[in-house]
Amino acid sequence: MYLSLGNKKDAVSFKDALFKGLAPDKSLYYPVKVKKLNTHFWKNFKKTDTFSLAYHVLKDYTNNEIPKEDLFDIIKKTLNFSFPAVLVDKNMYSLELFHGPTMAFKDVGAKFMSGCMEYFIKNENLNEKITIIVATSGDTGGAVANGFLGVDGVDVVILYPKGKVSEIQELQLTTLGDNISALEVDGYFDKCQEMVKKTFVDNDLNKKMLTSANSINVARWIPQMLYYFIGYKNLNIENSSLVVSVPSGNFGNLCAGMLAKKMGLPIKHFIASTNENDTVPKFMKTGKYKKQKTVSTITNAMDVGDPSNFIRILNIYDNNFENLKKELTAYKFSDKETLSGIQDLYNNSRYLSDPHGATAYLGLKKYLANNPKEIGIFLETAHPVKFLDTVENSIKEKINIPKNILKLKKKKKRKIGIKDYEQLKSFLLSR
Ligand SMILES: *Cc1c(COP(=O)(O)O)cnc(C)c1O
Repeated sequence: MYLSLGNKKDAVSFKDALFKGLAPDKSLYYPVKVKKLNTHFWKNFKKTDTFSLAYHVLKDYTNNEIPKEDLFDIIKKTLNFSFPAVLVDKNMYSLELFHGPTMAFKDVGAKFMSGCMEYFIKNENLNEKITIIVATSGDTGGAVANGFLGVDGVDVVILYPKGKVSEIQELQLTTLGDNISALEVDGYFDKCQEMVKKTFVDNDLNKKMLTSANSINVARWIPQMLYYFIGYKNLNIENSSLVVSVPSGNFGNLCAGMLAKKMGLPIKHFIASTNENDTVPKFMKTGKYKKQKTVSTITNAMDVGDPSNFIRILNIYDNNFENLKKELTAYKFSDKETLSGIQDLYNNSRYLSDPHGATAYLGLKKYLANNPKEIGIFLETAHPVKFLDTVENSIKEKINIPKNILKLKKKKKRKIGIKDYEQLKSFLLSR
């Protein structure tokens, strides 16, 4: 059902792709087949409830390996919050994806993945302990920690770049304890991601059941399609197609949108909005992919110089650059521009955005300036409070802090410092 994009072979079941994370050749898994949704689905689209809609979108990707009732149950637990589309300007909506438990869009992928794993662990008597190892640029850590907290048979190890995540992000991933360990890495996100990938091909570690919970894992990547389906449904724009701007770092989210389109969702154009880590905007200009050294920005969840999921995007477009160009525009924005984006939204629309959402807003605005007839949404991927200092400095006002965040601030952080791969390896071997 899933094959490696490296050799287009090694087809595995959903369960195997879920537990392996990365294919044996270190490449990413991709579904063997992407089926278009049938006319029956579209005829009933508007009146279908969100859970049923999600079930129809996702069922083929779990390959009948999870029975209907169980899959439905996982979906209900995953989508237990709202995804409002808020009008912020003419033809411009913010699709808020941050109303989940850790206030960033990654909650959906993390919860779906933990639900699927929990199902297999419970029902197929997997006796071995599973270690989930995950690199985070900020929000993945909290979402994965929350999704897997207390799940029997699973240990979670989170690698995050020292000093490069926000205070609230760090609290979310270091204060849970229980089956969650947080490793603070001297270096950027790309270094964390590189180390995680290395553990999977390390023979000394292959006796351990190691897997990843980054968007390289199909169970985290694929459910992100739901934002686009739900967004389209919530907008209620009959017979019209959409333009979507996605704040992008590792490009899992954008790539899920493209998969949704491949299934038939009427999205006309995608905008990838990045920060100074502009590997993809450069690619779209030159057609040449050149990974870059990561630079730190105020949109830290997008500080990725070598986005893992880009290979999936190329595959969706059959590695045809011209076809990709027709449907994707990529812009980069500096921190200064992003800060003024937050101000713009606040002063002109009384809309408070986080820096990532503001970047996406800028991308959409730029695109609509040349395509004024289109209707667009930008994905607001995190709650502004997660980037408190940046947002307050930008709008020059204090913002209200939700109760759950105030509680978090009283908790004690637990973390272990890691300098290099050897230290990570001995940590894993010692468990
Ligand atoms: C992870 C993240 C992104 C980037 O998403 P990708 O799927 O990695 O491109 C954007 N915004 C926020 C708030 C995030 O946490």
